[in-house]
Amino acid sequence: MPELPEVETMCRGIACFRGKIIEKILFPKHTRRASPIQPRPKILASKLQGARITGITRLGKRAILSVEPANENGNLFLIFEPRMTGLLLRVPPPTEKHVRLVVHMQKYQDPLIFWDRRGLGTITMVNRPTFIARFGNNALGPDALKANGPELYKKIHRSKRHIKVALLDQKILAGIGNIYASEILYLARIDPRTRCCRLSQDACERIARASSQILRLAIKHEGSSIGDETYRTADNRPGRYQRFHKVYGRDKAKCGKCKNEIQRVIQTQRSTFFCPNCQIRY
Ligand SMILES: [Zn+2]
Repeated sequence: MPELPEVETMCRGIACFRGKIIEKILFPKHTRRASPIQPRPKILASKLQGARITGITRLGKRAILSVEPANENGNLFLIFEPRMTGLLLRVPPPTEKHVRLVVHMQKYQDPLIFWDRRGLGTITMVNRPTFIARFGNNALGPDALKANGPELYKKIHRSKRHIKVALLDQKILAGIGNIYASEILYLARIDPRTRCCRLSQDACERIARASSQILRLAIKHEGSSIGDETYRTADNRPGRYQRFHKVYGRDKAKCGKCKNEIQRVIQTQRSTFFCPNCQIRY
């Protein structure tokens, strides 16, 4: 499931489309589950025809294209949320049947493709007021790359939730998902089952530092392709950070630091991996 490093890699991989003008948008017909698209494909395509892509940015686990429409004032925002298996590509996709959207540009050979095997990813186009209403005003926490200890402490120190569960809450920090939550807590040496209210300011500082450290390294290695290898970069290559996972998906393997067995537990229906010896439960 694409998290911050994977979506950041996708955004960097499609940066070549910045400044391009949209020639046409196609929604290939397929028999698979249809991706949730808002507004209706026909309206979306007509509004975007002739529009210029002015920016490509990441917001948490979403990729955002800012576009200047050809025949109306005000920017529009095309929001891609990959969810489980969504990908943004600039080369031929892994399979044709899971292509959800193809954007052809003027005077540019390669199209931008949204591909999604499971079809749970969303494509949403909104104007600026709606964008601000949806994502402004603390709707999302600070980006996890810029996690800050005192701010994290302030947000969580009254909560009885387990810290791993809190890290998945996008209002606490934006961008962390199940893989990186386990990796971050391992680096910070904190047991994922520790209740937030038991964490000191110092522990929050360690979590904040570990977040930015792990996520930066994962971006450098273009994200993690795990299991069925669904996640690919924009030019259809797997990420490499899975080779550096210390705990995620490694239950029963030996901890690299202490040689004890890494354990898997379930927290809010998701697997968490950790070393009970290296990670302290406060
Ligand atoms: Zn250990």
